[in-house]
Amino acid sequence: MQRTASCMLGEHLQVGRALYVEVEGEGPDTVAAIVRQYVRDLPPVPDKVPYVAFCDGFIGELYRTDQTVVVTDSETDPRFDEAVRASWRTIRVRASVSLALNKQGREQVIFGLHNEGPRQWTEDEIRLVREVAERTWADAERARAENALRQREIKYRTLFETMGQSYSMVKMIRDESGKAVDARMLELNPAFERLMGIPVSEAINRTLLEVFPQIEDSWIQVYEQVITQNTPQRIEHRFAAMDKWFQVYAYPVADDQLLLLSENITERKKADEALQASEIELKRLLKLRDDFIGVASHELKTPVTSMKVYGEIVKEKMELIGTPQDADMVSKLNGQIDRLIHLINTLLDTTRIAEGQLRLALESLDLCELVEDRVNELRPTTGHRFTIQAEQPLPRLPADRERIGQVLTNLLSNAIKYSPKTSEIVVTCTRREHTAEISVSDQGLGIPESDQSKIFDRFYRVISENRSTYPGMGLGLYIASQIITRHHGKLWLRSAPGKGSTFIFSLPYSTPRP
Ligand code: ADP
Repeated sequence: MQRTASCMLGEHLQVGRALYVEVEGEGPDTVAAIVRQYVRDLPPVPDKVPYVAFCDGFIGELYRTDQTVVVTDSETDPRFDEAVRASWRTIRVRASVSLALNKQGREQVIFGLHNEGPRQWTEDEIRLVREVAERTWADAERARAENALRQREIKYRTLFETMGQSYSMVKMIRDESGKAVDARMLELNPAFERLMGIPVSEAINRTLLEVFPQIEDSWIQVYEQVITQNTPQRIEHRFAAMDKWFQVYAYPVADDQLLLLSENITERKKADEALQASEIELKRLLKLRDDFIGVASHELKTPVTSMKVYGEIVKEKMELIGTPQDADMVSKLNGQIDRLIHLINTLLDTTRIAEGQLRLALESLDLCELVEDRVNELRPTTGHRFTIQAEQPLPRLPADRERIGQVLTNLLSNAIKYSPKTSEIVVTCTRREHTAEISVSDQGLGIPESDQSKIFDRFYRVISENRSTYPGMGLGLYIASQIITRHHGKLWLRSAPGKGSTFIFSLPYSTPRP
């Protein structure tokens, strides 16, 4: 089209050259691409010329202000400077009519006629050049837009044909009262066939209920909602007959139509169901475990308490009438009974906590005194060195002496258990603004960062090679943290493997009102 226009104009006006030049690129990279040129008795100009060569000096200024540049003779025209004049000589032009079409704020197209010798252009000729240029540009634009549309169409068609999701465009079918009763499938892509196992040719233009008689009325009602509320929705449908689950995104489109994008989510659904079932099973097993622990520890408590009483009686007798070895044996037996009682009490505590039955007997407690008591109780049982640091006396606070004593014994026993035999254990009592803080530090194994958040969980024990020999059930810290929480306090730790651990708990001076 540009060629025809250039040709016709060139022929009609008998000029040496007619050019249709498109401006491409931005800033300094701007080039003028000669899209079409008609040449009669002049050599063609190169296909790509730097833009400045066309639009230098006064010519560019006239282009930018939408004026037609008319040159009768470049050799005598006072507007020319020597450089431009010389460049015109190289392409053998002395007279020309040219103009730039400024679209979207910049020159898009330059249209020009070149004449080898001087020429006096008439008004009609000048008008004709502008008219032809405008028309040619408009036609070229239309062609470009059509082409772009075609390309887009090809792109979307490819997407439509190859996408993994099934695409269906449906139009609602309504009864006389206007209620949606079914929907007709107007457009389907190949994925529909893959997903549903029904050829597109058998489903297209038929209704949902004709093709899938088993679908429920609720589907249609949901689609209806999407249209009335004019909001897209994600829906999960189950096809009982196929034993398949589909996820459908329904988008409202004009004219009572819906776009449905569906995919098969059966595998995911089955995995979810299996996960749910295993979670239920896990809960059942955990409950079974807790029930068993509760019943067993409760049943064990009575006979073991009696054993303890008889053990003490036998011990007294042996000290009177038996040999020292007999007395020693009975005392060891009693020691083991004490361990058993401690284990049973620990298990009973976990059951109480799980059932929300952990009761506190609050009293006004001197925490530092309790720390000293518990340290002194443990001192003779180990080779560790204990240091208590208490710079300021602590105010008394409301707490359960037995339970807080249990926490202290647990932290101290762990410090003993998990650190070298003669190392030091430091206990500090610190007075803070609203709380009293107790810390127990050892120089033992330490606890890896990754275990620290789980250390207060029920039955949690750190697993590593050098720990397998330490006995325990992983309940002590769990119970301790629950006791502290019930006192509205906090229990935390600082530790690094090989560098020892510090367990800290704080208790408020007054219990917050519930
Ligand atoms: P138990 O000591 O009976 O296993 P706990 O609940 O008291 O149970 O402790 C949980 C785990 O935390 C222990 O198995 C041990 O691995 C780790 N742990 C507790 N205290 C310390 C400590 N002072 N130093 C190193 N590891 C500790």
